[in-house]
Amino acid sequence: GYHKVLEENRKLYNQVQDLKGNIRVYCRVRPLFGQPSHLTTVSNLEEGNISIITPSKYGKEGKKAFSFNKVFGPTATQAEVFSDMQPLIRSVLDGYNVCIFAYGQTGSGKTHTMSGPNELTEETVGVNYRALRDLFLLSEQRKDTICYDISVQMLEIYNEQVRDLLATDGASNKRLEIRNSSQNGINVPDANLIPVSSTSDVINLMNLGHKNRAVSSTAMNDRSSRSHSCLTVHVQGRDVTSGSIIRGSMHLVDLAGSERVDKSEVTGDRLKEAVHINKSLSALGDVISALAQRSSHVPYRNSKLTQLLQDSLGGQAKTLMFVHISPEHEALGETLSTLKFAERVSTVELGAAKVNKDSTDVKELKEQIACLKAALARKE
Ligand code: ADP
Ligand code: MG
Repeated sequence: GYHKVLEENRKLYNQVQDLKGNIRVYCRVRPLFGQPSHLTTVSNLEEGNISIITPSKYGKEGKKAFSFNKVFGPTATQAEVFSDMQPLIRSVLDGYNVCIFAYGQTGSGKTHTMSGPNELTEETVGVNYRALRDLFLLSEQRKDTICYDISVQMLEIYNEQVRDLLATDGASNKRLEIRNSSQNGINVPDANLIPVSSTSDVINLMNLGHKNRAVSSTAMNDRSSRSHSCLTVHVQGRDVTSGSIIRGSMHLVDLAGSERVDKSEVTGDRLKEAVHINKSLSALGDVISALAQRSSHVPYRNSKLTQLLQDSLGGQAKTLMFVHISPEHEALGETLSTLKFAERVSTVELGAAKVNKDSTDVKELKEQIACLKAALARKE
């Protein structure tokens, strides 16, 4: 009796977990800037749901609703945003590969989420720093059973060329190759991979990375919005007693601005950039969408970004697409196209907002499993 119910509960539990999938989509709305008279396009903001107000031809307002795994409004703090991602980040120490992307038009808050604003304080630091701080903390807690080595890499992809943001002596302009070896999987052998053991190590490296990024932006104004930057954290844990090795990785990606560039208005370098950005963001969308639909063919080869992350997208890997929107009316067109992109890569059904229900289901099932186990133990 008990055994059978337990077995059935387990099956159900796995099904619910499976349904939740390894791809999550979060949305973050940044605060409204400028004149108080500026109108916001955002309404009906609640857990997992967001509506965008769209003026219609007849002067009557319409609403378009979207549902994601989570929606953060303009008042959400960096700590709140991070605490939701914490379990995902912690799973890296258990041997998972994790990718977190910040997507959105320029000025929508991608860098704010990942790195934080220019003036960094304990409250305003972003996901990158918090994630590493958490990994150090947790690895310290586990040190009697597992001994962890953590190292980081910081790359930029600009016009489909990969550069090392942690290079010193001006070597950061060298173009690097992405390799696929049977031994090391996908890697960039010529990029610096730097061991870190404290948050101050991390701050120093992030400063170097930002400096290297800024060097090139003097020549082409604000290159950072037209390139992807990827902070990769490699974790290796050794079981102190058995000596067995566990490996996990985390890619934290601040993507290039997703705004559509009017190709009839730009030429030369700007046109080239626009074409490359467009290509790589749609390649990323295609890959995640194929994974979300469990399609048999996943088109990794169409951009440097998806090639670089191939090991960490799909399979057992966990993906979080964090889309950012600006609430101003002027941004309406981009906001809708950002949300449509998010919808395409999402496994959440439109208007369904089943997320919370699913997680309660899992919680309930877990509790039931625990009860049944206890009952079983009492019987035996
Ligand atoms: P992006 O990287 O997408 O181009 P930024 O992160 O640079 O955008 O954000 C543009 C500006 O808005 C920055 O000054 C940033 O500090 C500010 N900003 C973005 N999101 C928030 C937020 N949630 N709270 C406060 N300020 C924000
Ligand atoms: Mg930015």
